[in-house]
Amino acid sequence: MKRLAILGSTGSIGRSCLDVVRASPDRFAAAALVAGRSVDELAAQCREFRPAVAAVGACESPESFDADCPLEAGDAAIDAIAQRDDVDIVVAAIVGAAGLRSTIAAVEAGKHVALANKEAMVVAGPLVQTIAARTGAIIRPVDSEHSALLQALESGPRERVRRVILTASGGRFREWPRDRLADVTPQEASEHPTWNMGPKITVDSGTLMNKALEVIEAAYLFDLPPEKIDVVVHPQSIVHGLVEFVDGSVIAQLSPPDMKLPIQLALTWPDRLPAPTERLDLAAIGRLDFEPPDTERFPALRLGYDVLRAGGTAGAVLNAANEVAVERFVAGGISFVQIPELCRAVLEGHDHDPSPDLAALQEQDRRARQEASRWTG
Ligand code: NDP
Repeated sequence: MKRLAILGSTGSIGRSCLDVVRASPDRFAAAALVAGRSVDELAAQCREFRPAVAAVGACESPESFDADCPLEAGDAAIDAIAQRDDVDIVVAAIVGAAGLRSTIAAVEAGKHVALANKEAMVVAGPLVQTIAARTGAIIRPVDSEHSALLQALESGPRERVRRVILTASGGRFREWPRDRLADVTPQEASEHPTWNMGPKITVDSGTLMNKALEVIEAAYLFDLPPEKIDVVVHPQSIVHGLVEFVDGSVIAQLSPPDMKLPIQLALTWPDRLPAPTERLDLAAIGRLDFEPPDTERFPALRLGYDVLRAGGTAGAVLNAANEVAVERFVAGGISFVQIPELCRAVLEGHDHDPSPDLAALQEQDRRARQEASRWTG
């Protein structure tokens, strides 16, 4: 029995994780549940899963919490939950840089971390890995592409890897001409053709910023240089990631687009259990298409590589600028094509530090948010 602390239990990943728990109650239990603001949904989850404790990070009215379970509040309480002795696995599924603190807390405590919060790796990947090396924490990716790489990398020695390939659905606007992209509405950007995800990552998928963040995440998770990480567009989202070895063999991982599989694998790896997901029917799918990403129409992807080469504070700045840019786009303040423009401007204006500590990363995050909020194009 693995006892889970699910940080972000009211989000898309959190709910899918609870589906995994529901499907294997003899294997998994929810020891702690953490949400941001959705106190009613959190209470319903607590009534069903009966965790030892729950917490909210950003809720103004926790008094409406209606469950027979202690409720805590604030970042320090969430950090403490990530370090509890009765928690075996921390599922880090808070969205954005807001998830960094608790991810680091879990890694500091030497926990097994199922990492969905890719932004934590983008902001502070080298720092997180340094702490993990010291504490013995195990970090297993939840992102489907990185889960695929974890599996495919098993097929040969690491020094025989020529490159890894992340697939990208290409998002809803894959075939839209450049001039039409300027008119993308927040409503259009909130819909994804193959994946059902939270609002921020859905916008990130449309701009391809999600893939930029994933390139950085892959580099820090698997200790890969940028030139060994490629991206290919694959609209069906069936092949999630591939590894090419020096002999030319390419090992791919395929499954229907359903996050419950990579979530469960991050909990059980290297073991495998039947998962509450549909099985793959290749004949029904019929064809799998691949094409190169168009970095002229979707320049965010290039930013990912630039940031990876720069290292240091660049990841924190890109992530913070993007979070603000997405919020501004959703609020109608900037256009869809201005999201990567804003990010590049803030990155180019920032005071780069090649080897920052956590305080320096947090300071750069704060400054980048300030710059991004006043950027006018
Ligand atoms: P959602 O927006 O659906 O959920 C975010 C979760 O974080 C919610 O539970 C939210 O709580 C919680 N949250 C937000 N701010 C805080 C805070 N300050 N303190 C505590 N909790 C907070 O996002 P997703 O589930 O889509 O994504 C979560 C992470 O997983 C992201 O990093 C994303 O990139 C990554 N990911 C997601 C995938 C997907 O398919 N959705 C695929 C791969 C990676 P509340 O709603 O109660 O405010």
